[in-house]
Amino acid sequence: MLTSAVKFENSEAFARELDSQDELSVYRNEFFIPTRESLDGKAPRAVQQPEGEKCIYLAGNSLGLQPKNVHKYISEELEDWASFGVEGHWNSRHPWLPYHEFLTEMSARVVGAKPIEVVVMNTLTGNLHLMMVSFYRPEKTRYKILVEAGAFPSDQYAVASQAKFHGHDPKDAIVELKPRQGEDTLRTEDILDVLDKQGETIALVLLGNVNYLTGQAFQVAPIAAKAHEKGCNIGLNLAHGAGNLHLQLHDWDVDFAVWCSYKYLNSGPGSLAGCFVHERHQNNFDLPRFAGWWGHNKETRFKMGPEFEPLPGAEGWQLSNPPIFQLAALRASLELFDKAGMKNLRAKGDLLTGYLEFLLSDISKTYLSIITPSDPSQRGSQLSIRFVANPKEMLGAFKEEGVICDFREPDIIRATPVPLYNTFVDVYKFAQIIRRFAKNG
Ligand SMILES: *Cc1c(COP(=O)(O)O)cnc(C)c1O
Repeated sequence: MLTSAVKFENSEAFARELDSQDELSVYRNEFFIPTRESLDGKAPRAVQQPEGEKCIYLAGNSLGLQPKNVHKYISEELEDWASFGVEGHWNSRHPWLPYHEFLTEMSARVVGAKPIEVVVMNTLTGNLHLMMVSFYRPEKTRYKILVEAGAFPSDQYAVASQAKFHGHDPKDAIVELKPRQGEDTLRTEDILDVLDKQGETIALVLLGNVNYLTGQAFQVAPIAAKAHEKGCNIGLNLAHGAGNLHLQLHDWDVDFAVWCSYKYLNSGPGSLAGCFVHERHQNNFDLPRFAGWWGHNKETRFKMGPEFEPLPGAEGWQLSNPPIFQLAALRASLELFDKAGMKNLRAKGDLLTGYLEFLLSDISKTYLSIITPSDPSQRGSQLSIRFVANPKEMLGAFKEEGVICDFREPDIIRATPVPLYNTFVDVYKFAQIIRRFAKNG
């Protein structure tokens, strides 16, 4: 059993020892992992583990790897479509009519919510807009949106367009939280302070949890409490949080949250998104919302009447009947999360990331610095490493050594050891490449 009290050592033997004690190591074999040969196009293409030496895949924050069961689950739907045609809505092994419901409880467990509070639907930015339609309700003196500076561009566009949609100038309506001079991440006390001073003018607080660039996870509970004390709604974009952090959305008491499932949730490129609406809004049918037939009362949906009658809870925000193949992919992935348990995954994730931080800790600050907070409660698996000297050359070296991680201009490399499929040896080898490079560079 791995425990957080472990004293790290910089050796491959030690990394191997950690892997041998890791009860979650069995999950690595549930995923296909690209190899140097497959990246070069030299391995035969097939839905199987590619031949050759496995890459050190540290990009699960960007696109999660493919669970092996995805192929089986999608194939079943292809077979049932062939066998049943339209009757598959009722007669397939996993009937399509209620298919999204097969994912609800597992999704709820991943994000720390009650089943009534979550639904899988649409894609991320779409859900963000739907939630802002309901929870960004600007009034005369309370019309601002509080966001972190440097939010993911899609969020910036979405927020600005919502402000404009309500007739506000985004320059006036959007308040950005910026780190203090000389710091890279936000302090909770500073966020609370802004809410204390400006809360009466803020209609909505919207935070990414984790911030995609810095890897900072915000301390949501006190921020949500302060936001509500000041009469603001609060929502989270969990693109980098769902499947990464041990989330407690219900207890944290946020009004809404949205996330995608192709990053840490491993459900494939462009896959579906999730949405959380707190239980206290479940029967609030007066909230303005954009409606579609899948959000309508299931009992009377096919009566095709003209009056929209929303379902209670998050399901009431659905628009369309969802894409079944994509739901099948997500179901395969969520089953792994359910078996492993988010709490256990986070515990291993803290060790993996802590180990990476330890291995880089004695490299000169003139060469690199880690901008992600070192406090494990303020981060997930991702470490954002600023390469002061030559990030592009470092990237070249990674490529040669079969490392996949990602780069954000001008100098940030995001490296994410994911507890479901990365190993301590992955982390060790990755750090060795950097150490070698730092010494020679
Ligand atoms: C990945 C990501 C997105 C992507 O949005 P899509 O609608 O899924 O294309 C948006 N916001 C954040 C914070 C992200 O990390």
